[in-house]
Amino acid sequence: KTSSSSNFIKNIVIDDLKAGKVNEIVTRFPPEPNGYLHIGHAKSICLNFELADEFNGRTNLRFDDTNPVKEDTEYVESIQEDVRWLGFEWDELRFASDYFEELYERAVLLIKKGKAYVDDLNAEQIRETRGTLTEPGTESPHRGRSAEENLDLFTRMRAGEFRDGEKVLRARIDMASPNINLRDPVIYRISHTHHHRTGDTWCIYPMYAYAHPLSDAIEGVSHSICTLEFEDQRPLYDWVVAACEMEATPHQYEFARLNLTNTVMSKRKLKLLVDEGVVDAWDDPRMPTISGLRRKGYTPEAIRAFCREIGVARAYSTVDERMLEHFIREDLKLKAPRTMSVLQPLKVVITNYPEGQLEYLEADNNPENPEMGVRLIPFSREIYIEQDDFMENPPAKYFRLFPGNEVRLKNAYFIKCEEAVKDEAGNVIELRCTYDPETKSGTGFTGRKVKGTIHWVEASQAVPSEFRLYEPLITNEAEDDGKAFLECINPNSLEVLQGFVEPNMQGAAGHDKFQFFRHGYFNVDPKLSADGRLVFNRIVSLKSSFDA
Ligand code: ATP
Ligand code: MG
Ligand code: MG
Repeated sequence: KTSSSSNFIKNIVIDDLKAGKVNEIVTRFPPEPNGYLHIGHAKSICLNFELADEFNGRTNLRFDDTNPVKEDTEYVESIQEDVRWLGFEWDELRFASDYFEELYERAVLLIKKGKAYVDDLNAEQIRETRGTLTEPGTESPHRGRSAEENLDLFTRMRAGEFRDGEKVLRARIDMASPNINLRDPVIYRISHTHHHRTGDTWCIYPMYAYAHPLSDAIEGVSHSICTLEFEDQRPLYDWVVAACEMEATPHQYEFARLNLTNTVMSKRKLKLLVDEGVVDAWDDPRMPTISGLRRKGYTPEAIRAFCREIGVARAYSTVDERMLEHFIREDLKLKAPRTMSVLQPLKVVITNYPEGQLEYLEADNNPENPEMGVRLIPFSREIYIEQDDFMENPPAKYFRLFPGNEVRLKNAYFIKCEEAVKDEAGNVIELRCTYDPETKSGTGFTGRKVKGTIHWVEASQAVPSEFRLYEPLITNEAEDDGKAFLECINPNSLEVLQGFVEPNMQGAAGHDKFQFFRHGYFNVDPKLSADGRLVFNRIVSLKSSFDA
């Protein structure tokens, strides 16, 4: 059983249980199936599931599928997969569309009680007559229709006699209410649209503000948790539950949504990125979707720990994206094997190493976790190192290779750069070095010290691999400039490099995670790796100023 950290909603739950206001904690996670879940949803998922779990309650996964134009079964499936992957299991899987008939019956009840009426005003007219914060709204000329007439019209709305937008059903509350949400909100609209579950059964669909409280009441939800934007809707939520004479009386509680620096968190914008081909799919590793984070290499443990750390509050804030990165480093630190990879290879020939000889050197799989044991890595006369571990004319304090300088090869020997071989254009294409057999790693050599340690991969057995390095798709600064969203895309969000990994990684499978010495944590991309071709997504580099 998980124990979430203390927060104001948890305190409300504790008080409600103590006071006997509720005897079971029932929550729900209510996504609209109009896109893939993102890291913001993870916050809501953790909150709802962990809260109920802690008090032996229940949590439903309920699809808020009241807007068929934007919804799709692809999203219904991905959402279930993502919730499960995060480590949560719902008590019941529900759909708001399961309740369409009951919602209709409750609307009929409202009409009979004089609490709802059919209006002929169109959307624009309704907006214009709604009033402002300082001015009351104006009553529709149709507000006085009799219950009989309203019933007749509503029945005919359902029967499909009217076109989209021709009529709506409005709650009859108070056009002068200081809360604009209570000025006769629309609760049903006409939409001749095929629904992914109910097909063509319905051509009228309930609005969120009407369907949501009733769905909560039908399911016996005790604490209906949503984000702060819905605070002003709470009086309407309570009105709907009471006016529809629901047996259960759920209550709504609001918390501040998660915002992350340099991260787009709106499904509408994320969908635009997919539709415009800016990213290759919803699970592109640059996407802040759960599936994108998974493909990049995030673990459910890291995401849950992050959600626990950021907590639940009512104050708006923006969390530094490096906080999320901190938690994946923490999670993988002791779990991921540490190996060597060369992302931008430069061939090194060790001229005094016997030709045709190959030896195996022992290396720790994770120096911080000795239980992970050791492995053997090949070493020979030809190896690859990183291009930027050599400089012909280095600045001061450059301790890696340059002509005449000696460095330590991680897990191997000291080598000294004797010569840089260039092509006709003057580019360095190979280094010729010598090694000192006495400096072999693990022999306790103390004869002299070198300041630089670099990584390498033996050339004859190196496994060609692709490395994909990521930067934010959108930076805050770009968005703040007020430019159109698609003009803010970072053109360098993806860098693709062709290099090598150690031969012992040949059999790596999708989602295997490694720490590459000096490069950071990487995940084997489950989609792009195929037929022995390994593609690695960089999850995160090794350190950030945030950890310090
Ligand atoms: P978006 O604006 O990205 O489309 P949404 O709120 O419309 O998000 P829903 O599918 O309705 O998406 O969200 C399901 C639940 O997740 C809601 O209860 C919502 O409050 C919550 N949620 C959505 N975004 C965030 C966020 N950034 N932080 C915390 N909770 C969120
Ligand atoms: Mg929503
Ligand atoms: Mg939305």
